[in-house]
Amino acid sequence: MKKVVCILVFLASFISFVVCCHSKATNTNSLVKESSKEISKYFALNARLYRVLSMHPVIEIRQNFLPKIMTGEVFVVYESEEGRGTFFSATLTDGVQIHVAEELLMRPLRLQQLVLFHEFVHYQQYIGGHAFPEMFNPSFADAYPEKRESFCKQKWHTEFEAYQKECELSDRLKGGPDFCRGFQASDFVEKLAAWVAVNDSSASICKETYLQMVQSKQF
Ligand SMILES: [Zn+2]
Repeated sequence: MKKVVCILVFLASFISFVVCCHSKATNTNSLVKESSKEISKYFALNARLYRVLSMHPVIEIRQNFLPKIMTGEVFVVYESEEGRGTFFSATLTDGVQIHVAEELLMRPLRLQQLVLFHEFVHYQQYIGGHAFPEMFNPSFADAYPEKRESFCKQKWHTEFEAYQKECELSDRLKGGPDFCRGFQASDFVEKLAAWVAVNDSSASICKETYLQMVQSKQF
């Protein structure tokens, strides 16, 4: 870990230096200050993410997913969701890029671990060839309206699997998200399907298909 910190500090100094040398004299100071602030924030968020993943109860995340994130093989983008109404999400795009809400990293540890585990399931679906990269891009269904139904059906299965596994983990760990409560009840699968059909972010473009899937019990 010390090595990693040294490399990061070196990179920060190097980037600051490059920014410094290429800035015009008039705005050099403000640019350097702004860049340093952004770099410090990035490293602080990275350190938080590292902590959450290195303490994750799922061994594959600690041993397989975390190293891929640390080397950039799975690329992390931090986003601020302030004002958007959702304060704790993460999204996998293109199969190998994770957009993490900065606010997620301020939430309780268990919730962070569950949300990141959900994205890990999507990553596995992508790596295993069960999901194509476009499926993780919400604009896909709009860009190819003729493929919307098949897109939505496949998306449904990937989302349902990810939520189901997330709830199984939540049940083991306790203190998971509200929609996972009652996991052991006999109608849990129906309840979860109904929840996903309305509440997942892809429901806004796939609602009709999702409701059909729920009605025909395709989960
Ligand atoms: Zn998902």
